Formats: sequence, structure tokens, C-alpha cells
Amino acid sequence: MTLPARRQELAANLARVRERIERACAQAGRDPAGVTLIAVTKTFPATDVMQLAELGLLDIGENRDQEAAPKAAAVAAAGISVRWHFVGQLQRNKCRSVVGYAEVVHSVDGVRLAHTLATAAQRRDRPLDVLVQVSLDGDPERGGAVTTTDAEGSAGDRDLDRVLAAVAAGSALRLRGVMTVAPMAWPPPRAYAQLSTIAAQVRARYPGADIISAGMSGDLEAAIEQGATHVRIGTALLGSR
Ligand SMILES: *Cc1c(COP(=O)(O)O)cnc(C)c1O
Repeated sequence: MTLPARRQELAANLARVRERIERACAQAGRDPAGVTLIAVTKTFPATDVMQLAELGLLDIGENRDQEAAPKAAAVAAAGISVRWHFVGQLQRNKCRSVVGYAEVVHSVDGVRLAHTLATAAQRRDRPLDVLVQVSLDGDPERGGAVTTTDAEGSAGDRDLDRVLAAVAAGSALRLRGVMTVAPMAWPPPRAYAQLSTIAAQVRARYPGADIISAGMSGDLEAAIEQGATHVRIGTALLGSR
């Protein structure tokens, strides 16, 4: 596809997604300014990121460092400045790379990961915003810290309270809130209602942790209804992967 044709396609998709967000906010009695749209550009080229930036969408999400790092470098080399959100499962050996370009990491779900990220972030000139990813069903395959406890009364490295404390203790990290990926088998309203309850408990203990990152292409309305402040949209903006 030529660049102008792709630009038109992205502009039309963006208009549709913004309309969905506005309608969902109206339904929920919320101000659309309270919902940040993040374009998840995984598998799509850096040129798409540049076009989205020119259309005014400056919050960009990626889920793999191997792909995100070169893309961030290409966008920066073009003189375009965006805010990179790292939304995928993060391996500890990628922390040094990710802190080099990300403004926000949405997916911290372990105590050791929090410590490694905190050490890596010390090289930055400003703190790194961090969300703790919450697993609502405890499925270890999909990532996320858990609130359920084992026989000893702790979920170990992935215990939500311990992960929150580890992030909050990192001087180069700012605990900004929670994120989830809705479990496949759950109706989205149930998932996002449960996240909303957890988010309120987290906010009561950490007042700066007011971000709720929830909602994707198929279920952004349910997420906004339950208070999402950040929606992560791939397919509806970029097309199918
Ligand atoms: C890919 C991805 C999204 C976007 O999903 P779509 O259904 O394409 O909108 C959101 N969040 C995470 C963590 C992702 O990996």
C-alpha cells in the first residue's frame, strides 16, 4: 500500500476508534479527556508509527523488545517524538534496553523483575512510570501478579502486594497504577469490574497509582465503563495482524 493510502486508512480507523471512546464515555458519564488512547503497533512498521504521530496519536504500545527497540530508534531518527508504552511480558534481560526508550512499562508482574527494572532505570534522567500487571484468573501463561495465596499464604515472586511494594520502593520507578489483559474465558465486564476493585484498593495505599490500563479493540467499551484511563488498541487502528 502506498503511504498516502495507508495514511487515509489509519486516519479513518483512528476516527472510528475515537468515536467509540467518545460514545463509551458519554454512556459512562465520563470525560473523554480522561481516557488515553494507546496504539499498539506490534507487527506493523515504524512508518505506521510516524503516520499515527502525524495524525496526532503520540502514545504507542509494543509488546516485544526485539521489535520495539529498532522501531523506537527508527522513529527517533526521523525526528519524531512519541511516548512508548511497553505492554508485553518483560524478560529481565531486556530491562536495560526497554528503559532506553519506554516512558511507561505496563507489565511488571514479579518482585525480581521490579528490582531489575529499578536498577536499570537508574541510568535514566527521569523516573520510569510503571504499572503492575494483574492476573485475574491466575493463569501463569499470560503474565500478571496474583492476589490469590498458596498454602503458605503467599504467591511468592508474583504476589501482588509484594510486587506493588517492590515497584514503590524503586527510587527510579514511579508506581502509576495497574494493568490487565482480560482472561479469554471471562466476559469483559466481569474482568474489568474486578480490576476496578483492585485498582481502588491499590490507589488507597498508593495515591499516585491512578492509572487503569484495560481494554483492547474488542472490548474497550466495557473497560471504559469500569474506569479504564488507558486503552490499548491494535487491530481496530492498524488492521489485523
Ligand atoms: C496486542 C495487544 C493489545 C492490542 O490488542 P488488539 O486486540 O489488537 O486491540 C493490547 N494489549 C496487549 C498487552 C497486547 O499485546
